[in-house]
Amino acid sequence: MKDHAQPRDLDGNPVRPGLPMAMLAEITHRCPLACPYCSNPVELTRAQAELPAEDWARVFREAADLGVLQVHVSGGEPGARRDLAQIVTSAREAGLYVNLITSGIGITRDRLQELDRAGVDHVQLSLQGIRPDMADRISGHPGSWDKKMGFAGWVTEIGFPLTINAVVHRQNMDRLPDMIDLAETLGARRIEVATVQFHGWADLNRAALMPTGDQAAAARRIVNEARIRLRGRMVIDYVPADHHAIYPKACMGGWGSTGLNVAPDGTVLPCHAAQSITWMKFENVKDRALSDIWHMSDSFNAFRGTAWMSEPCRSCDRKTVDFGGCRCQAMALAGDARATDPVCSKSPLRARVVARAEEDAASDTADLIYRRMKKGG
Ligand code: SF4
Ligand code: SF4
Repeated sequence: MKDHAQPRDLDGNPVRPGLPMAMLAEITHRCPLACPYCSNPVELTRAQAELPAEDWARVFREAADLGVLQVHVSGGEPGARRDLAQIVTSAREAGLYVNLITSGIGITRDRLQELDRAGVDHVQLSLQGIRPDMADRISGHPGSWDKKMGFAGWVTEIGFPLTINAVVHRQNMDRLPDMIDLAETLGARRIEVATVQFHGWADLNRAALMPTGDQAAAARRIVNEARIRLRGRMVIDYVPADHHAIYPKACMGGWGSTGLNVAPDGTVLPCHAAQSITWMKFENVKDRALSDIWHMSDSFNAFRGTAWMSEPCRSCDRKTVDFGGCRCQAMALAGDARATDPVCSKSPLRARVVARAEEDAASDTADLIYRRMKKGG
């Protein structure tokens, strides 16, 4: 008889879910900025479909009961929600460490103080460029630079620990040393230098954003040198350009392994891009308890463990290191979410993927398709 309580991967092999440590709470997709590489889906959720604050409070309690220690309150721009302080308070009351991920636009100094009282422990601020013209052009929001710099000042005045999120691509990668210097000047304890991941909006902008091989190599060297220079003062996390690496990254530390995302409407996802796997059905916290979704849902169990893998991953000694790479990238580049991540040097598709990336990197277009909600949102 079939054991219905036994979680199984998409081939029916038994799997053993661990416990999540972190949850990304995307409380809204609304955002005053329009970054052309935004990790939100191309089909953005409208305000009317967002979970109310009371539901978020329940989700946070369920997350804490499940084992989650840390919540990243993000968006869109979380400041677009007027009830942000209420949402933060409920996360803190659930016992979670609260990291606010923000563009810094639309949160006044008074509001930031209110968020301090509500329980924000840490602030992560995005950086689109190192000069007003560059930052405003990339973000599609005139005046964003001045507002962002003002916000960064309040963060350190109030005393939050600060992380700078710097997304790098062909149009700003040559200024990476200046970005690291700026993060230091702003008093950041950490900078996350992340090369654009080409899903969703970024995929629409491949030709304008794909870094060259020379840029990727220089970025790696710059990060390594800065890590030595800034040791003990500022931590540098680095997400390299996929197409210039030999092996893929261990996306999300393995599917359904250590983290989960909750989208603005309550849909629970193993990673923020998972809805690009269009055949997969995702469950919602409005219909099912978070713990049940984590342990028993088909979506979370689909790619747990290693038994679902096919060759070359199945017989590869890195399969418990990178877990076959990114499922969404496999979907995007191979058209098959089960495939070996095509950026891996062992993938039969690698040569084609690299050739396409080189073609994009050689493009002379700088025109951007901005991330915007369709009219009526
Ligand atoms: S990446 Fe840009 S557009 Fe997307 S949520 Fe962040 S600030 Fe807004
Ligand atoms: S073959 Fe699979 S497991 Fe091995 S390195 Fe490539 S993606 Fe990772």
